[in-house]
Amino acid sequence: MSFLELQHLSKTFADGTQAVRSIDLTCAEGEFVVLLGPSGCGKTTTLRMIAGLESATGGQILIGGEPVEKLAPSERDVGFVFQFYALYPHLTVRENIEFPLVCSGVGRSQRRQRVDEMLERLELGALAKRNPSHLSGGDQQRVALARALVRKPRLWLMDEPLGTLDADRRVEMRELICAQQLDTGVTTIYVTHDQEEAMSLADRVVVMDDGRLRQVGPPAVVYDEPDDLFVAHFIGSPGMNFVEGVISGEHPGMLRASNGDSAALIGDALALPGEHAGTRSVTMGVRPEFVRQDASDSIAATVVVDDYLGQHRNVHLDTGFGRLVMRVDGHEASQRRRHQPGDRLQIGFDQQHLRFFDPDTGTRI
Ligand code: ADP
Ligand code: MG
Repeated sequence: MSFLELQHLSKTFADGTQAVRSIDLTCAEGEFVVLLGPSGCGKTTTLRMIAGLESATGGQILIGGEPVEKLAPSERDVGFVFQFYALYPHLTVRENIEFPLVCSGVGRSQRRQRVDEMLERLELGALAKRNPSHLSGGDQQRVALARALVRKPRLWLMDEPLGTLDADRRVEMRELICAQQLDTGVTTIYVTHDQEEAMSLADRVVVMDDGRLRQVGPPAVVYDEPDDLFVAHFIGSPGMNFVEGVISGEHPGMLRASNGDSAALIGDALALPGEHAGTRSVTMGVRPEFVRQDASDSIAATVVVDDYLGQHRNVHLDTGFGRLVMRVDGHEASQRRRHQPGDRLQIGFDQQHLRFFDPDTGTRI
């Protein structure tokens, strides 16, 4: 059953900025949904509207089937972690974490127990008596997280809650949020521009761009089956390679580069449905891990740079189809030697993993 529903939700600010453009989204109870998108795409504005901190200029929000438009933020029963932690400066760390429990009338002994538990889980015990202004940004952020997680509201809304933490802490906190959410079953909307964070936390990822939803789905679907070029490029690091070419009904296994220089035989992958018979331009997408070096393949490539990244390398290649990135796993004995700029290779694609897009609209064919 849907627990949180956004219907045609829109926000145009007074200066005319259209931050959110009629989005529709339904979340099930207990679901962990991550809003992912580049800076400025409307993630924070969406979250603030759900929290009631910003009013919508169109559409509506339902929580548990009830429109929440007329409810003040405090009446919506949401736990919010802001991008910029906003702790109460005159309260100690312990008092900050305790504050939401005081507000919701939890008794003293239970408050003590819950706060102690959070202090321990977030390793904040040693800082309990400190004032927030005496903490590092990362520690303040963990206090803000503890303050949100100490209570069990109807919804958790988290806006880049790990932004100022260093890499080790981020992973640690990610695990903690995940465990806490699983334990409590609190429906969670989590905002990030970090795709690794999104992929690791989400039941479903919502990819946003320019105030719109581009794709909503489980992480693996968004990665493997991107609906459009934006999602295909935004997800993955680096994103999907794109190859512009023309296919014809006569040679359905052949992709011809638009400049006519080069042709590649790639099996049945391009056998498109009848409606596309004849000749048509396509943008073929292939992830770097599905580009391989293979002497029997027909695409000539020249190495531009071989980027060493520890567990793997990204080999940037110039081909008749444009620039491509090939991912090479570093631990395979045969692959240990780094390529030199100017090296010539033959490459091919893993056919099962080719994706085709309409070059005009950008949508998946
Ligand atoms: P994100 O969180 O995805 O980075 P935001 O929701 O903060 O994006 O912002 C979306 C767009 O709305 C941006 O173009 C931003 O500049 C604009 N914006 C945000 N807040 C305001 C405001 N109070 N007044 C005018 N424009 C705003
Ligand atoms: Mg933001």
